[in-house]
Amino acid sequence: MRREDFLRTGGLAIAVGLWYGCTRGDDELLPAADGAAPGGFDLWIAPTDPAALGASEPEALRSMGIRAAIVPLAAVPTVSSSLRESGIAIYARVNVLRDLPAPPWSAAHPEWFTVARDGRSSVASASDTEAWLCPSWPEVRAQLIDDVGAVAADPQIDGVVLAGIEHSPASAPPDADYCFCEVCRAQFIDLSGRDPMTLAAHHRDVGWQTFRREALTALVRGLAQAVRANSKPVAAMVRATPEEGRREAAQEWDEWPVDRLIPQLPTTAAVAPPPDRTRSGWNGLDLGDRRIQPAIEVAQPRRAAETLDPSEFGRETAGVVLVGTLASLLQHLDEPRRP
Ligand SMILES: [Zn+2]
Repeated sequence: MRREDFLRTGGLAIAVGLWYGCTRGDDELLPAADGAAPGGFDLWIAPTDPAALGASEPEALRSMGIRAAIVPLAAVPTVSSSLRESGIAIYARVNVLRDLPAPPWSAAHPEWFTVARDGRSSVASASDTEAWLCPSWPEVRAQLIDDVGAVAADPQIDGVVLAGIEHSPASAPPDADYCFCEVCRAQFIDLSGRDPMTLAAHHRDVGWQTFRREALTALVRGLAQAVRANSKPVAAMVRATPEEGRREAAQEWDEWPVDRLIPQLPTTAAVAPPPDRTRSGWNGLDLGDRRIQPAIEVAQPRRAAETLDPSEFGRETAGVVLVGTLASLLQHLDEPRRP
């Protein structure tokens, strides 16, 4: 479908109408609390520098048709009132297995962190970017569910984006395939009668890989319930395709019971939408009521928003999340408007 045809059928009419210089209307343009656009294709942003948000940006973003902003949990108090006053829904991004603990659990519960096959705990690594909580511990799940529930109860936010749900961090060396902690080992022995430490090729062991994926899926199930108990929507940031998620992060994200799945699509293009071969990773997925809303990071996100063709994204796609600095998101705003 050509862009003009899409506009004629109403899809992005309101948002694009605003880009093209129409006067903002009144209440009918305010977003639903979940950031959904009336036309059915939602533009969200994930600013990489939310602290740079000044007094005028929210209204400018709103005039671009932005319906929601994904903001790191720690930045919510700073930006929430100005964004929400402009009618932009706030999704708090929580790096679930990474940065919820306060005070840090590394001191109180070092045993809760993942353990590599060589016995090294991720909490003891030189870089804390490698410290990941293990989702197999019942105590970890209970704590995270409590904490995410508390985030969802915050009246400053309209929804929660779950991020950082991986079983093997991307930075882990190939032979440090987490997690071989005492709880993971005991649970897998109960399940299969085999000690994962004795597996000759754990990377290729179907039972072991399935066990790891199901630990994450069970965690997501509990977290999603905790958010919905507060009558708010829940989304999850995930690898680009379910296949990549399973292979590299034990993320079986097509099984995750969230409202929106946000695959993070790497691209080096300045303004191009994600390539066909990446999107084809979603084709044929049985997602039910769940929608996909890819996050695209490009050099010129505003141009990308103006040139993307929603019809290329398929019916399972709810919209896109534009990733970039606020300056890049707002660039060209002062250029002459098209007729
Ligand atoms: Zn473990």
